[in-house]
Amino acid sequence: MRMDGSLAEGVDPGRSGGGGSEYAAAWQRVKRRLRAELGEDVFASWFARLELQEVAGGVARLTVPTRFLKSWIESHYLDRVLANFRSEADGIESIEVGVRGPMAQPRAPVAIAKPAASLRPPAASSLVAEAHEPERAGRGEAAGDLSGAPLDARLTFESFVVGRSNALAHAAAERVAGHEGSTPLYNPLYFHAGVGLGKTHLLHAIGHAAKGHGRRVIYLTADRFMYGFVNALKTQNALAFKERLRAIDVLILDDVQFIQGRSIQAEFGHTLNALIDAGRQVVAAADRPPTELESLDERVRSRLAGGLVVEIGTLDEALRATILHSRLEAVRATHPAFEVSPAVAEYVAKAITANGRDLEGAVNRLLAHATLTGAPVTLETAETAIRDLVKNREPKRVKIEDIQKLVASRYNVSRSDILSERRTAAVVKPRQIAMYLSKVLTLRSLPEIGRRFGGRDHTTVLHAVRKIEKAIGEDAALSDEVELLKRMLQD
Ligand code: ADP
Ligand code: MG
Repeated sequence: MRMDGSLAEGVDPGRSGGGGSEYAAAWQRVKRRLRAELGEDVFASWFARLELQEVAGGVARLTVPTRFLKSWIESHYLDRVLANFRSEADGIESIEVGVRGPMAQPRAPVAIAKPAASLRPPAASSLVAEAHEPERAGRGEAAGDLSGAPLDARLTFESFVVGRSNALAHAAAERVAGHEGSTPLYNPLYFHAGVGLGKTHLLHAIGHAAKGHGRRVIYLTADRFMYGFVNALKTQNALAFKERLRAIDVLILDDVQFIQGRSIQAEFGHTLNALIDAGRQVVAAADRPPTELESLDERVRSRLAGGLVVEIGTLDEALRATILHSRLEAVRATHPAFEVSPAVAEYVAKAITANGRDLEGAVNRLLAHATLTGAPVTLETAETAIRDLVKNREPKRVKIEDIQKLVASRYNVSRSDILSERRTAAVVKPRQIAMYLSKVLTLRSLPEIGRRFGGRDHTTVLHAVRKIEKAIGEDAALSDEVELLKRMLQD
């Protein structure tokens, strides 16, 4: 296959101790795993153009054509890629992602010449064929198997602290988990909240409690749903997969916002309908309300919205203090010498305002500090230990220049193209998107934005903003795209 050939050339055999082509082959398996785990659409969007350049000194150097892809992969998938690479090849310690320029990649000429070929999803027959290849550890386990992900023993109702912001969600969760009747009370039960506010905790708690009532529970993350489904497809076992899904009492689905791909979301819709119509309880969580799940079909969204939708709000200070207190207690069970004074605890609960995950991170750092130095945690050491968690919380100021650079690299034009007078479509669209983002992400006035875009009039900026606003409303793909750009700029 051409792709294999080009990759073999892309690896520097001299520097990788003669194992170059082995790494190239391992890399092919990694890509296959990623495709199976994430589904065709996610894979095509982010990984189709990710190539292995070389492995040297334990570092696998990967390249993508744009900075946008680089940052996105780095911020969302680095661990996953590394874990997969490690299980496919020995001697990989870390990975780095670089941007390959049109000139800057003498090592993999073929891969650059025809990058588009790898973008096309493989035909169904090749998916099936792959299932007959020798499976490596960890792969066969999920093929068609829907035992779901294991529940975390720590995430129970007992360890969940109830406060104003999550009281409703907690009450609904308890009722659903303990419900004995044949018809579910709220179906589906849908939670939404920002990151670290306890969605996954509540879902696991429901899982534990429902199991305790003798009900058959499956907990799946969106990734796992897609992974299981794609694998089932490969073994031509989609029917059995669906049957298994239907043979359960409670389906719990986490991070629904990640379900994407035309066939997968259609199947998700069917599965949802089948379960709900059969009177099975469905519980779902996502980072946004059902109406804003842009990657899902309108009917699926309204089905998700058709039960009880509950938002979990941000943690207030009292809730943070209680969560922190119970965390510290839990840690003390295994580290009796670990002491944190009330003053330090109060400081941490005040300083870390964003979410429960950071609170957990803070406790781990204090513990690490205490264990490493053997000294008690003072206010001062606490401040140092959690400094970056606190700093992260200040909203980032976005610069117009950064917007222009990111948008330019995303659309493969230069920043000076964006500032120029050129009016070809290839330049106009990114320019308008950059203007729109400048309006919504900065506090600059329209005339100021116009000046920063090569001295344009404010009416031009206004026109661009209106145009993109309208287009976003009509075009889900564009809306996703702009959303991604926004997130990247604010990360
Ligand atoms: P999400 O899924 O919403 O991103 P998680 O459920 O993973 O958030 O929560 C992040 C961390 O904060 C977990 O360690 C969780 O146990 C903790 N946490 C969040 N809310 C609470 C709560 N109300 N009580 C106890 N722990 C909580
Ligand atoms: Mg979660």
